[in-house]
Amino acid sequence: MLSSLTPTDVAFLMAGLMQAVAAVLWLVTGWVIGDTQRAALHWSAFAGLSAASFGLLVAAMLSHDAVARDTFSRNPPAGEWLRAAGNIVGILGLMALQRGIWLFIGRPLRHAGHALALVVVLLAAWIGLDPAAGPLRVGVLSAVQVVLALGIARDLHAHGRDTLRLRRPLLLALPLLLAAAVIGARGLRALLEPASVLTQMTVNSNLNVGSAFVYVLLSLAFHATLMVLVVTRLVADLQRLSRRDGLTGLLNRRALEDALLAQFQRSRRSGEPFSVLMLDVDHFKGINDEHGHAVGDLALKHLSALLLAHMREVDRLARFGGEEFLVLLPGLALADALPVAERLRAVVAQAPMPLAGVTITLSVSIGMAEWGGAPDEPSRLLVRADAAMYQAKRHGRDRVVWDGAAPLTA
Ligand code: GH3
Ligand code: MG
Ligand code: MG
Repeated sequence: MLSSLTPTDVAFLMAGLMQAVAAVLWLVTGWVIGDTQRAALHWSAFAGLSAASFGLLVAAMLSHDAVARDTFSRNPPAGEWLRAAGNIVGILGLMALQRGIWLFIGRPLRHAGHALALVVVLLAAWIGLDPAAGPLRVGVLSAVQVVLALGIARDLHAHGRDTLRLRRPLLLALPLLLAAAVIGARGLRALLEPASVLTQMTVNSNLNVGSAFVYVLLSLAFHATLMVLVVTRLVADLQRLSRRDGLTGLLNRRALEDALLAQFQRSRRSGEPFSVLMLDVDHFKGINDEHGHAVGDLALKHLSALLLAHMREVDRLARFGGEEFLVLLPGLALADALPVAERLRAVVAQAPMPLAGVTITLSVSIGMAEWGGAPDEPSRLLVRADAAMYQAKRHGRDRVVWDGAAPLTA
């Protein structure tokens, strides 16, 4: 059996094998990375269908070799059916690839174009069962593949330009553009030089061996491109997650410290003032004790949304610890930050949180501190804001106290 394989059979089988391996890789990737699972499964289907397509084309050639060509009659031999099936399965693979990319980039799935392409391909495969119509079949199938490949290239280019903001987004689309060029040339040749279909395209030929190698190279480049997209997104997601608080979605302490440091460096250079507010929820333990921890969590979310809605775009809000929040106010000296703090305090006190059956009113104590010029350190600034916040607690809560304020009387 093996000895009857031609170089074209072997080259096609290798291409199919490579796609089969890719199918398994994407299956595993989809399983490991939940977020892009549906896209990865589609890409696995693309690779698996492509592998099946090569298998069918090899089976078609083997079966043709077994049947003398002059026995062709009105009933197409099995080889022609196998070739038609291989063509259809290959195109279905391309569609799966495109749908996977739509899923990945968050574009709605469109069915009409694929349905139309499928009808055209089925017709071409049917007509192509008659070897005399071979050139037409190759021409039409190639045209459909080129249209699909160009569509995918366009989507990838747009994704690279608009979402990833790459300097050379065309690179993402390059393997697909090259594939479109190669397939297009094959289709044109079939139409302009019909004899080449029988003498080269459907039999063992140097053309087919070379095409299979080009196919493998482009497919590898293409799978690598997809992998880079997935990994890039994964890293970006992890980076974002590592800087966010899980409950409220606000910046976490680490991200806040980075923002504070950046502000310090900016202000050291430019002299721009800035202030920080340390907020602590009053009697929060009582809310947990009375209504349960889950309600306490809801209260923290409610508070975060409320504060965010009443801040400027440039201000930064972070969850500093359990029920403590920190606000960074760039450009505001103490005198300008004070009304902001007072507004935030009032907003919280005046926006009770409605829950099934009960209404919970929160209040916050706020300590303020202004950056004291070049020698000041970030940690000292926070200590001062914290001390002011504790003063606000001591003097009755639900109030704003600033660093350096005259001691309040109860
Ligand atoms: P004070 O007015 O003095 O600030 O009183 P308090 O009860 O708010 O102060 P305390 O520091 O004693 O209590 C803070 C509570 O916040 C204790 C802790 O269980 C609760 N807490 C911290 N993190 C979370 C959280 O993520 N969810 C919930 N539900 N509670 C939290
Ligand atoms: Mg506290
Ligand atoms: Mg508290």
